[in-house]
Amino acid sequence: MTAAENTITMTKQEDDVPFVDIQTKEEVEEDDDDFEDPSTSRKTVVVPVTPTVIKKEEHVFSPELLKQYYSRLFPYDFIYQWLSYNDASSSQQIFSRREFSFTIEPFPGEEIYIRYQSFSNEMELREAIMKRQPHKIDIGAVFNHPPKDKNTVHNFTTVQRELVFDIDLTDYDEIRNCGCTGAKICPKCWTFMNMAVKVIDAGLKEDFGFEKVTWFYSGRRGVHAWVSDESARMLSNEARSAIANYFEVSRPTPKKKPCEGKPSKIPGVFYPDLVSFVSYIRSRR
Ligand SMILES: [Zn+2]
Repeated sequence: MTAAENTITMTKQEDDVPFVDIQTKEEVEEDDDDFEDPSTSRKTVVVPVTPTVIKKEEHVFSPELLKQYYSRLFPYDFIYQWLSYNDASSSQQIFSRREFSFTIEPFPGEEIYIRYQSFSNEMELREAIMKRQPHKIDIGAVFNHPPKDKNTVHNFTTVQRELVFDIDLTDYDEIRNCGCTGAKICPKCWTFMNMAVKVIDAGLKEDFGFEKVTWFYSGRRGVHAWVSDESARMLSNEARSAIANYFEVSRPTPKKKPCEGKPSKIPGVFYPDLVSFVSYIRSRR
């Protein structure tokens, strides 16, 4: 599990039905950004907001369906409310200072990544999305100024962002005995994700006192946890890493240093609920 950068993404999916994705992205921020975690990596989580019928044979992307989706189905109000935190006094400031990035594809196979988009309200967000028809929408951090004004202000920097964890089934490759590897998943190995969600969700709430913990399917091989409590949004990079480390019981690192080829981090003292979680997991085998 890694502490991750938070983004949201519209992607082309296997069944031509657009999704809203929550995605972590490689941090390419070159500006002062106190909360950036250098360990982040680009991965994708999907929030299915439309009914899906998977037809693996049909992979043709439809711009017209995407347009219909943005016009009729995209949850602008939900996105706005969520990222405003229902705080009348500060909601507009928080929302208007949030970075959005669009990935557009003006021609098939030609992707353009547009950073530092920001919007004053839900209507501006809707208008921009309708105009750009982005194939992906990344939700970034909240800055001290609207990101669209980045080049006209001094000391442009991050002031808050959600605490995001990224859990991939590839983290379990060494103990997956169902035959799956890499991005391949099946109901059997997905049990690891079910267990991880239960353990980490309880730990975040009971051990750290967070309340606003939301889980998203990555769309590929794992899940993302978004912790949106204000205290979580204000955490330093060091605190984010420390929380991630707290949950880490074993970290196989065969692809790194040879001396770390075995599970390398089994603490002598487990955190309080680990024993009960182990019992729970064993009861589900
Ligand atoms: Zn499997």
